[in-house]
Amino acid sequence: MKNKTTALALFSGGLDSILACRVVAEQGITVQALKFVTPFFDYELLEKQDEYKKKIRDTYGIDVTLIDISLPYLELLRNPPHGFGKHFNPCIDCKIMMLTEAKKLMDEYGASFIITGEVLGQRPMSQRKDTLRVIERDSRTDSILLRPLCAKSQPPTQAELSGLIDREKLLNFSGRGRTNQIELARSFNITDYPAPAGGCVLTDPNLSRRIKGLFLETPEIDINDIRFLLVGRQFKLPNGGWLAMGRDQNENDEIIKLKQPDDISLKMPTRPGPTALLRHSAHLEDIDFAASLVVRYGKKVKQGDPEADVTVTAPDWEKTVHVAPLQDAVFSSWIR
Ligand code: SF4
Repeated sequence: MKNKTTALALFSGGLDSILACRVVAEQGITVQALKFVTPFFDYELLEKQDEYKKKIRDTYGIDVTLIDISLPYLELLRNPPHGFGKHFNPCIDCKIMMLTEAKKLMDEYGASFIITGEVLGQRPMSQRKDTLRVIERDSRTDSILLRPLCAKSQPPTQAELSGLIDREKLLNFSGRGRTNQIELARSFNITDYPAPAGGCVLTDPNLSRRIKGLFLETPEIDINDIRFLLVGRQFKLPNGGWLAMGRDQNENDEIIKLKQPDDISLKMPTRPGPTALLRHSAHLEDIDFAASLVVRYGKKVKQGDPEADVTVTAPDWEKTVHVAPLQDAVFSSWIR
């Protein structure tokens, strides 16, 4: 009889999560991977879900579903009960949230247990032995959370005790080395996988500092604000304006997509240069500074007038101003 046991997997897309899915699927269990997204990690996948699902199925033989947890995540970042890691990364509470959400979906998928790609001792904060216990306890998944890559160093879970899965075929990986994972990947014929780390901007020193600053100074933050804050060059102008400026065509396009009704856009009509968006300020001085910054980062002219036209489009007016590039000494302290 076909084995109908199903497991839900937290799926980051990194090698460990890929291997965890494959180790369990190898025992005839249906694995449904869940990829949680927020503006801090993998949000762009929401725009190309079908393409992403196909790529993961074709490359790794894994079925994945994307789940957007942006709104509760923004709340969580205000005050994560277990605090932050080295940067603005609430890794323990992040995992607790994902497991809690996965647990809510178990009935819908007819799942008997949940798996993760965690490896004991791999990360300094969130994968210590005591922390793994805290994550299980606070997500209320203690008997149903199986970590296939380090299961043999963990107490047996319900799935192992009831015979749904053979504990002997699970693994005992530990520590930060990758040799075991790479060998296991090879045994599954998996050679194309992402490099470790990366993906979550909350662990990036510069971007997480920007995000933390925003959380400290702004009581209301929405998803668009976070995406705005993560695109291109960023400036905090003297009268409270936030300015985002594209560094290439992709970022210019992204900035335009993020435009909100009250935002002011700036662009040079006759010279190549960045698209910029000014938010939270219609102060004339901020608009002038923004226009001069657009010229500063626009294409330089070898000879002749360094000044240029900039078209400024506000919600209820539009005008073209002729301005000089702003001197670096004036704005260096405005860079976020
Ligand atoms: S690195 Fe980012 S996505 Fe990963 S657990 Fe930490 S906060 Fe969550």
